[in-house]
Amino acid sequence: MMHDFHYVNDELYCESVRVKDIAWRIGTPFYLYSHKTFVEHLEKLQRAFKSVKPLICFSMKANSNLAILRTLVKKGAGLDIVSGGELFRAKKVLCPPSRIVYAGVGKTDQEIEDAIRTGILLFNVESIPELSRIERIAGKLRKKVNVSLRVNPDVDPGTHEHIATGKAETKFGLDMDTVHLVFMRADQYPHLLICGIHVHIGSQIVRGEPFVKAFRKILLFLTHLEKEGHKVEFLNLGGGLGIIYSDERPQTADEFAKQILPLFKGKKYTFIFEPGRFIAGNSGVLVSRVLYIKETQAKNFAIIDGGMNDLIRPALYGSFHDIWPLKKKGLTRKSTYDVVGPICESGDFLAKNRALQELHPNDLVAFASAGAYGFSMSSNYNARPRAAEVLVRGSKFEVVRERETYLDLIRGERIPRWV
Ligand SMILES: *Cc1c(COP(=O)(O)O)cnc(C)c1O
Repeated sequence: MMHDFHYVNDELYCESVRVKDIAWRIGTPFYLYSHKTFVEHLEKLQRAFKSVKPLICFSMKANSNLAILRTLVKKGAGLDIVSGGELFRAKKVLCPPSRIVYAGVGKTDQEIEDAIRTGILLFNVESIPELSRIERIAGKLRKKVNVSLRVNPDVDPGTHEHIATGKAETKFGLDMDTVHLVFMRADQYPHLLICGIHVHIGSQIVRGEPFVKAFRKILLFLTHLEKEGHKVEFLNLGGGLGIIYSDERPQTADEFAKQILPLFKGKKYTFIFEPGRFIAGNSGVLVSRVLYIKETQAKNFAIIDGGMNDLIRPALYGSFHDIWPLKKKGLTRKSTYDVVGPICESGDFLAKNRALQELHPNDLVAFASAGAYGFSMSSNYNARPRAAEVLVRGSKFEVVRERETYLDLIRGERIPRWV
């Protein structure tokens, strides 16, 4: 089962809840998540890798709603964070600190200090100046801190260039020579235990080869380090597993494990994975309402009440999201639409040249595979309150983040006397 969105009598359901009923209750647009799909995707990975009992740290930037995080933490997941704000969320859902790993190229002093005080498992360090900074702050706090070094293996993951992170020209990670030097000079960092290697080469990677290529390089490198007597306890293989948006044929968790596990046979590392999209992507949809159908000489536009501020992936990466009508109308003709939002930008589209059943004002549609990098990348552009988020479990549903109000839009703003 890829997800728990399906049709019953031509009406879209999430698990046992008719999606239309939620739309009537709370209005549109809203994000809708399936509890079961989230859990099943986590469990697929846990099962595939059970022989090495990995720590699976859900990459929170994909979807950071507290209800989602709590769901995954209760099922044994840890969390991969990239900011102090994400650390705050991790604490809110009572994630054990021993299951938190912290990556990102721009950690501030305050963020580092908070994470050390929390007692997170590992910092994934991306530069030498960052390493020095963590050393200084750990010294001040009289703590010994676990550090893993993010290696940039210089491989092309064959994905969109904005989400490729493992090529030499990206800002991420350290080259192997530098990592080697750090291990040799570990005594320069008395408050750090340099005990791990981290690699994350990009996102929405649908083939196994880029992973295998990167991990082979890492393995050779590890062998080299260990020959010199350096100890590596944690091997963090990152995230990046691709999912189905349209006609991709990504590797399954089992296929992925079959390719990866033999590479590391006999190794005693504590393995860490940081999947985001794989767990969240197909677990959520964005539900929106058609406002107008605008027919011009060039195109048919379906203008809807969700826009690029709600779901920016099509505008940002040219991403494809399948469109599911909440009610299928058997035999009507299909028309081709550009499905666009209300925002004043030509980039404000959710789909282009899409053949869909004929649409009319007030029709409801769901954008599939919007559970990852959907709400978490949303904004208030054009002074639009952010959408509500709803979680379904079986026949229950609940709003897990309220739709923002106009007052939310201006919270914290003030007009100085002197303007
Ligand atoms: C974004 C990110 C991930 C998750 O990537 P997915 O493609 O969503 O699995 C994992 N690790 C790091 C360091 C990241 O920045």
